[in-house]
Amino acid sequence: MSSETHEFKAEVAALLNLVTNSLYTNSEIFLRELISNAADALDKARFQALVDTSLDGQELESQILITVDKQAGTLTIEDTGIGMTREETAQNLGTIAHSGTLRYLEEMQRARAAGESSGAVEPNLIGQFGVGFYSAFMVADEVVVTTLSGKPGSEAVVWRSRGDGSYQVEPGSRSQRGTTIVLTLKTEAKEFLDRWRIEALVKRYSNYVMHPIRLRVIDEQGEDKDPEPRQINAASAIWARSSSELEDSDYTEFYKHVMGGFVMPGDEPFARLHFTADAPIQFHALLFVPGRAPADLFQEDRKALQLYARRVLVVENCDTLLPQYLRFVRGVVDSQDLPLNVSREMLQEHKSLAAIRRQLTRKTLKLLAELAEESADKYAKMWNEFGSVIKEGLHTDGGQRAELTELLRYRHVADTDDGLVSLKDYVAGMGEDQKYIWYVAGPNEAALRNSPHLEAVRAKGEDVLLMSDPVDEWVLQSLSEYEGKSFRSVTQGELDEPAEDEDIDDKDDDSDDKDDEAKAKDKREPSPIDPLLNLAKVVLGDRVRDVRASKRLTESPSCLVDAAGGLSRNMERILRMAQPGTKLGASPRILELNPDHPFVTAASKISETNKDDPRLAEWVEILHDIAALAEGTVPDPAGAAKRFTKVLNNLVAG
Ligand code: ADP
Ligand code: MG
Repeated sequence: MSSETHEFKAEVAALLNLVTNSLYTNSEIFLRELISNAADALDKARFQALVDTSLDGQELESQILITVDKQAGTLTIEDTGIGMTREETAQNLGTIAHSGTLRYLEEMQRARAAGESSGAVEPNLIGQFGVGFYSAFMVADEVVVTTLSGKPGSEAVVWRSRGDGSYQVEPGSRSQRGTTIVLTLKTEAKEFLDRWRIEALVKRYSNYVMHPIRLRVIDEQGEDKDPEPRQINAASAIWARSSSELEDSDYTEFYKHVMGGFVMPGDEPFARLHFTADAPIQFHALLFVPGRAPADLFQEDRKALQLYARRVLVVENCDTLLPQYLRFVRGVVDSQDLPLNVSREMLQEHKSLAAIRRQLTRKTLKLLAELAEESADKYAKMWNEFGSVIKEGLHTDGGQRAELTELLRYRHVADTDDGLVSLKDYVAGMGEDQKYIWYVAGPNEAALRNSPHLEAVRAKGEDVLLMSDPVDEWVLQSLSEYEGKSFRSVTQGELDEPAEDEDIDDKDDDSDDKDDEAKAKDKREPSPIDPLLNLAKVVLGDRVRDVRASKRLTESPSCLVDAAGGLSRNMERILRMAQPGTKLGASPRILELNPDHPFVTAASKISETNKDDPRLAEWVEILHDIAALAEGTVPDPAGAAKRFTKVLNNLVAG
């Protein structure tokens, strides 16, 4: 066999031209590509030995040896895998075998045709697609492959190229089955002669490759100080092992790794999920519900699950594997059925990934449900960390509504100890004549607990859910009822009027709304405090929508309520926060007076006998102040303070 020079196929030449001219930040992926080729070759040898007992090199230990030679300026990746015959080298290294590489070329042509600047787009694309074996030319001036196939009677071959238009093939000397790839590093790529750089890269991308990866360093004087090359990868992927052979401490170690190395005592995960799926697509998953909300939970570029393809890291933070509302989950997914070069578009459209996502979502929701069953206490802690994120799912994932609804928890009036209640338990605790699931929403939970609006409902012994999370009322828009019971705000409408006009579609049609309100007024039964109510309407003018006798108060003299069907005060606040500058004004509300309260009855008496009594206007203002004060938002605090002081002065004087 003589030395022969061959031209690369046209597409390879085009690709090499690009690759050799781009040394960019992501060129480090060449090592991942070469290591996984070596691992593939070792897998093939192992498999081939099973079906062909005449295969050479069966006594060899599977290993991948990386040699950094500082004196020669070379980086060598060597394996004891299946090797290549002369024909195979030409076939595999002279043409594009790799489907990801072909896609890369297509995408690049598309980008060019679309007029996207080629310089900016190409290096990025290499990172996305990887270009397999050819990525070696990003960092090397010359690549020399020496290989001996395991097929009996094979001869060693040397394949060499400088990444220009051609490659040479000639006889080589190698006595052991396998492949050695020597990269003569470009001057700009000398960083890859650093032991720690190589170790870090192997840990990052190839830590869980099943075969041992060993590192040997030859220093500037040509000396090798280590007696034995040191293994630098874990070589065993905990997620691919059966959970029955793993200890809790194995999981704890791995959790630390996933969380970036350090876990505070007490921040152990709330739950973990470890399973292997075989159909429709094979994958392993090892996921954790962290013991504390990650700091980047609300950031755009947060961490996410790691995606591996056959033990090799392909996407470091793959946020398409779980829906957004489960973004706090951390861990690893590894699939045999994925290509090494997963592109961004593939992440969105790939059928296998969609199938993985469906299974992960379902299993994670089930895991959370099981946690709730097993330990209400742990679940409550989990809910405090992640509840508001999980709730987003009710808005965004109609398909999982039933499961998500069962996960909901609320603080509630019946539990003064900050305990949580599920909707199931709330409904189970409802008396026979309780018609609604009561809730009160607002920014401050302590204020909600003391809200005067709760009085009548509480007096009847009915429980009220406290909703102080900004997303709570959004959630209710996609969840109008539970087990046939509808949700009802204690601050909205008349407590005993039917809830039907709470139809959300109607709410922005203000004129309709007014009509309803007018009809409601006509229907209203006369009240003994009517003269006072009429007077209060005059005094407060357009600061209130209406003044009426209250059915919800037992202790407090007054409160402000939202019109039935209108936006609640809390919702207005949230909308304003979401869209600053919207015209959503604070629409006037309804002032309710408690006809049984001594202060109100006293005022009412005066209004019957002398409606011009100057005290009346003042007292009406005070009733309005008290109602506003109970909610924590007094429109005119200084005026209110003056009015209260005057009453107190009179008290002392009188
Ligand atoms: P892919 O790995 O996706 O097939 P690559 O461009 O990475 O594409 O490699 C091209 C081909 O070269 C491989 O399919 C394999 O047949 C061959 N090859 C590369 N490296 C090795 C190796 N270390 N041992 C044996 N064959 C190899
Ligand atoms: Mg490859």
